[in-house]
Amino acid sequence: MSEYLIEIKNLHKYFGKNEVLKGLDIQIKKGEVVVMIGPSGSGKSTFLRTMNLLEKPTKGEVYFEGTNIADKSVDVFKHREKMGMVFQQFNLFPNMTVLDNLTLAPIKTGRMTKEEATVKAKELLERVDLSDKESAYPQSLSGGQQQRVAIARALAMNPDVMLFDEPTSALDPEMVGEVLSVMQELAKEGMTMVVVTHEMGFAKNVADRVLFMADGVIVEQGAPTEVFDSPKEKRTQDFLAKVL
Ligand code: ADP
Ligand code: MG
Repeated sequence: MSEYLIEIKNLHKYFGKNEVLKGLDIQIKKGEVVVMIGPSGSGKSTFLRTMNLLEKPTKGEVYFEGTNIADKSVDVFKHREKMGMVFQQFNLFPNMTVLDNLTLAPIKTGRMTKEEATVKAKELLERVDLSDKESAYPQSLSGGQQQRVAIARALAMNPDVMLFDEPTSALDPEMVGEVLSVMQELAKEGMTMVVVTHEMGFAKNVADRVLFMADGVIVEQGAPTEVFDSPKEKRTQDFLAKVL
């Protein structure tokens, strides 16, 4: 068994003739918090989506808990259940209450009884400070509240890793902090996390490792202090000069 929770080897992704991921090799250990930064269009979302097979890799291997989930013979649904994903646009089920949003997947997949899923959902809502909203519908909540529900919903499946794709980019500035603090708590509790974000403060404070991606390749990676304070590559320096 590999020492890595996730190991990606020579990952390529084409959309038509457009090569968006150009041979990525990435290893992630259990409990690690990896933050990915990089310009718009560099392939960050495609990378996250390929990692849990929402996009099919054109070439390469994606080992998750020792299994190459890019292999055609693998039941990808079974493995994807262990990967929680949080999107920029929340993607909650609009016609369901907050509580039903959280209990749907655990019940539907047969992982929990309705009673178990409800107990777990209430625990999670308490954790994201939304116990009073269990009967509310998503559209009645603020963006920050919806995103905290989305995080709780992903956690309801007891994932082994959480993938975040710009979770605060669609939020009004005053709501960014409440979402980042939930994520910071999660990191402290030892959750393995891969986070695409433009929140450099979060990256500096919470990441174990920062990856800088541009044009479908990992240009540079290292501890936050290394990447932010003494970037080696010109492309990293230029990007950081714009965002810091
Ligand atoms: P980022 O998240 O870093 O902004 P993306 O992964 O969204 O970058 O996009 C990388 C490139 O892939 C862009 O050129 C984008 O237009 C292209 N792309 C992303 N998704 C698709 C798709 N479903 N079909 C075709 N092209 C896509
Ligand atoms: Mg993106």
